[in-house]
Amino acid sequence: MCLFCKIIEGDIPSNKELEDENFLAFHDINPKAPVHLLVIPKNHVDSFNEVGPDMMASATSFIQKLVKKVNIDKSGYRVITNIGDNGGQEVKHLHFHILGGSKLKWGHFTDADTKGSF
Ligand code: 5GP
Ligand code: ZN
Repeated sequence: MCLFCKIIEGDIPSNKELEDENFLAFHDINPKAPVHLLVIPKNHVDSFNEVGPDMMASATSFIQKLVKKVNIDKSGYRVITNIGDNGGQEVKHLHFHILGGSKLKWGHFTDADTKGSF
């Protein structure tokens, strides 16, 4: 079972912020901003490459509810999902980073070698 599936099962503790039947939001253990939440589907999906449109539609509603709950909807925030090796995905369970609570620099998670190849 992957790390985030263990968090869903409660085998690994997490600081939960919001959940419904399909998603769980909890605080990142190593926050990169004053608010740094992770939103994960309760059904394991490896990455954004595998997610279907129905799950994305419900993820959108869940994230909109979450950012209102933690009061960053008006001040602004960033939604990021890292995919695969070049994207810097360390946990192979789809997750959305929700970053806010201060003015974010453009550079968070985006540093890249512009001459790189794929
Ligand atoms: P990725 O690099 O895969 O996009 O993001 C994985 C995120 O999960 C990282 O920001 C990391 O700090 C977070 N993380 C890893 N292990 C744990 C954990 O056990 N608990 C929590 N709350 N966050 C974790
Ligand atoms: Zn998983």
